[in-house]
Amino acid sequence: MNETVTKPPERETSPPAREVVPPLELTEELLQEMQAESQRLESAHPREIIAWAAEKYFPRLAMATAFGPEGCVILHFLAEVEPRTYVFNLETGYQFQETLELRDRIAQRYGVEVELKRPALSVEEYEAQHGGPLYRTNPDQCCFDRKIVVLRESIQGMHAWMSGIRRDQSADRAGSPIVKWDKKFNLVKISPLANWTKKDVWNFISKHDVPYNPLHDQGFPSIGCWPCTRSVLFGEEDERAGRWSGSAKTECGLHTSD
Ligand code: SF4
Repeated sequence: MNETVTKPPERETSPPAREVVPPLELTEELLQEMQAESQRLESAHPREIIAWAAEKYFPRLAMATAFGPEGCVILHFLAEVEPRTYVFNLETGYQFQETLELRDRIAQRYGVEVELKRPALSVEEYEAQHGGPLYRTNPDQCCFDRKIVVLRESIQGMHAWMSGIRRDQSADRAGSPIVKWDKKFNLVKISPLANWTKKDVWNFISKHDVPYNPLHDQGFPSIGCWPCTRSVLFGEEDERAGRWSGSAKTECGLHTSD
């Protein structure tokens, strides 16, 4: 697919220094405000939702991305709306090379540098500590150590984060509102693509030449760490069927029952 190079916006792209501020506290007033905004934004275009989020929460707005198609679409809008938004990737050490290369293509196309956040221990150190790869024996612990702990560190000082969740991705995600309180991480959680379908996302990518992971063209509709991702088989309808295949695990814990 032809990727036209868009000149990055002519403004400061490095994120402002983050002062230490207290976390947002959930009050009845905030809860009501989130519910009202979520309802109001139900029919809004994702760009409008992202613009609202940036206006309301920047510079305390963050986004974690694994460079899935939804994340790439959000980055496309963020580059227009507020390219200084703090965007990071949980670099577990087990990501596909194609995923890491996509980070560079995004930077080239949009001028947005997604920060790679790594766990304290390298893959070698971590596997030595546990007598082998934990993804085989205890993937929940592995996801906790290599994703959740790193996410918690990364969102220090933030008040809101954005996710690429779509309601039609899985039963777990079907009830996701546009704006909600994420009590797991004590942040406002905004899902600008909640009511977009898979088709909407891919139509947008195609129309705007948004960079995407080439593994999607090789039968991987959802891409995480290589040990826990397989291509889906013909006839498999669940687009996340290739994640932690053969186990009951369906989520890494970032978006589960918060
Ligand atoms: S997806 Fe797999 S390899 Fe990646 S952190 Fe979770 S269990 Fe570990």
